[in-house]
Amino acid sequence: MGVIGSAASRYTDPMTSSSSTLRVALPVPLPHLFDYAPPPGPAPDPAMTGQRVRVPFGSRELVGVVAGIGQVEDPASLRAAIEWIDTTPLLTGELWRSLHWLARYTHAPLGEVISTALPGPLRRGEAVPDTHRWGWQLTDAGRDPQPRLRSGTRPQRLAECLAGGVVDEDRLDTLMDDWRSAARSLAKRGLVERIALAHAPAVASPASGPAPNAEQAEAIAAITAADGFAAYLLDGVTGSGKTEVYLQAIVACLARGKQALVLVPEIGLTPQTLSRFRNRLGIPVHVLHSGLNDNERARVWAAAARGEAQVIVGTRSAVFTPLPNAGLIVIDEEHDGSYKQQDGIRYHARDFALVRAKALDVAVVLGSATPSLESLHNAQAGRYTHLRLKQRAGAARPPVVRVLDVRKRPLRDGLSPEVLAGITQHLQAGHQVLVFKNRRGYAPVLLCHDCGWTAPCQRCDAPMTVHAGGRRLQCHHCGARQSAPLACPDCGSLALQPQGIGTERLEEHLVEAFPDFPVIRIDRGTTGKRDALETQLASLGDRAGILVGTQILAKGHDLPKLTLVVVVGIDEGLFSADFRASEKLAQQLIQVAGRAGRAVDAGEVWLQTHHPGHPLLETLVNGGYHAFAEAELQQREAAGFPPFAHLALLRAEAQQVEHANAMLSAVRALIPDDAAVERYGPMPAPMPRRAGYQRTQLLLSSPARRPLHGVLDQVTPQISALPQARRVRWSLDVDPMDLY
Ligand code: ADP
Ligand code: ZN
Ligand code: ZN
Repeated sequence: MGVIGSAASRYTDPMTSSSSTLRVALPVPLPHLFDYAPPPGPAPDPAMTGQRVRVPFGSRELVGVVAGIGQVEDPASLRAAIEWIDTTPLLTGELWRSLHWLARYTHAPLGEVISTALPGPLRRGEAVPDTHRWGWQLTDAGRDPQPRLRSGTRPQRLAECLAGGVVDEDRLDTLMDDWRSAARSLAKRGLVERIALAHAPAVASPASGPAPNAEQAEAIAAITAADGFAAYLLDGVTGSGKTEVYLQAIVACLARGKQALVLVPEIGLTPQTLSRFRNRLGIPVHVLHSGLNDNERARVWAAAARGEAQVIVGTRSAVFTPLPNAGLIVIDEEHDGSYKQQDGIRYHARDFALVRAKALDVAVVLGSATPSLESLHNAQAGRYTHLRLKQRAGAARPPVVRVLDVRKRPLRDGLSPEVLAGITQHLQAGHQVLVFKNRRGYAPVLLCHDCGWTAPCQRCDAPMTVHAGGRRLQCHHCGARQSAPLACPDCGSLALQPQGIGTERLEEHLVEAFPDFPVIRIDRGTTGKRDALETQLASLGDRAGILVGTQILAKGHDLPKLTLVVVVGIDEGLFSADFRASEKLAQQLIQVAGRAGRAVDAGEVWLQTHHPGHPLLETLVNGGYHAFAEAELQQREAAGFPPFAHLALLRAEAQQVEHANAMLSAVRALIPDDAAVERYGPMPAPMPRRAGYQRTQLLLSSPARRPLHGVLDQVTPQISALPQARRVRWSLDVDPMDLY
């Protein structure tokens, strides 16, 4: 234990020559556990596994979790842990075992996996928060005689709220702003008091949903019949009533007295979705998303760990919720890329949810209108039960899809005359139109018309994106910003022109072309704040108007007035080199098309392209997503890509490319030649320089998981000890989503 070697305090057990030690998982990037002498208190015992302990580490103090009890011959060489944080294990049972699995699978230190899994306060060593619900009531003195309070003041309004009895704090939040200061002042005068509420009161009585159609009924019956672990792929077109199926399955799960966990993509977790869950289930729905503060997260974690939270709906990291009484796990939009964590511990929430469902012995439902090729492959192989919902539920009809060949057509800011005419028609009918362009900003490039110079990012191998109508430049890879130059730095010409179309430019043009209608742009630039999307959509309401934006618009709020979806500029995506690009593009097109005509009015989808004959478009338009997926799976199989191969990508970044390459070459040399694993690289990353760092990568591929993980088991623990690794930032990505 070189790192912690110098013993600060001595520990010996007078009774035996060897002593029991704590084997502690720490959040540091080193591939082993750390031995500590126990802190003052009870003697080490295997029952302490999963308890948090504060330990010295170098000159710092860290919070670790006991992963086991060990024996050492020479206890004097050990430092002693400082103190116990928990008196009982924080991590136990299935979650604890599953985190071990995740550490093995990602080949990451257990301590870092644990730290990724825990909410901030628990990670930092704070106590598990209490999860009582609190309420306020008038004291005897506050009730009789009625206190004289100046009318209209907050204290008086609060007293009035409480006149009918106890009101819980969540409800007060909705009734009055800043009721807490009023409560404090009344409490000081002995007029009100805070009391712990025994049980979470029901929100309301559950509302009943529509009677399921035949396909839904079959899916619900299959899922609720599961006895123990079973995986279902709920493969249903947009609007086919997948959410209804989840709700019914959750109702059945609650009726058995069990907990349900629902994962949704970040942008799918809208207030509308939540209120649908709350209304239908009639019990508190606990929510976990990136907008919560740390303490709220920790409270939901604690409520789940105590079995009080019965339904938890959350984004990616909610997959780490403790479920001592699990009954069901649902992953909505299972194909969504946001389930994959792209830094730190690169876990995939869908895949980890499957592992947990198996360990918990419960049913897991993967829902999507555009299932990932992995999941379709698993369904075909019989590992998942394939449930299809082929029809839209209720009255809605599938949209009519048209491919618009715009070759040789005059385009104004990227829109053809046919598209403009179509938009006019739908607007005049009182409907809404969505114009989809997957490129935020004003234009992708600033070009000098005289010499061909394009504005590059100084720190990345990528052009800067033009924003603010041409006045500002922004790098979408490293975040660099600057104002646009007035003259070309190469030739001095003033003929600098934004090239290509982004959402801002489309918006500008649409505002000009349709001055009588609201035009609302929605992309990551405009939805910085949580719920901003919701507010913007609400501002449009039912009025005829235009939404323009990126794939953020492909999900979320229902738009019953939306009857035309125009997709422009998909052509870049048709020719991307990444092996998953076609799958992503097809999913995006189907998802955004699914926004059209969710209500009674039939919808239309227009794809404007210069490549109307492209096989992807032809297959997708004529055969639908499944025809596309079939063809794509065949190509993946022929090319030896996932799901027919298993990949691991080792990325390295350094100031100098030689350092990154030297490190990856050293890793490559560690792999035995007879391993059934293909090695590609070191080679430059598809974007060789980003944020000032040179980036290279080593790709490992194997037709089977076992040999790949065998190699990683052997190699990964040695990497941090390589001298070549010192000047390099590196990361290992098992099952990378893309090779960038
Ligand atoms: P998905 O999750 O597949 O997009 P939803 O569950 O949101 O579909 O259903 C789409 C719409 O159809 C919703 O407005 C929902 O209330 C309605 N719906 C779902 N199932 C039925 C049904 N069996 N009968 C009538 N309407 C339904
Ligand atoms: Zn120039
Ligand atoms: Zn950059």
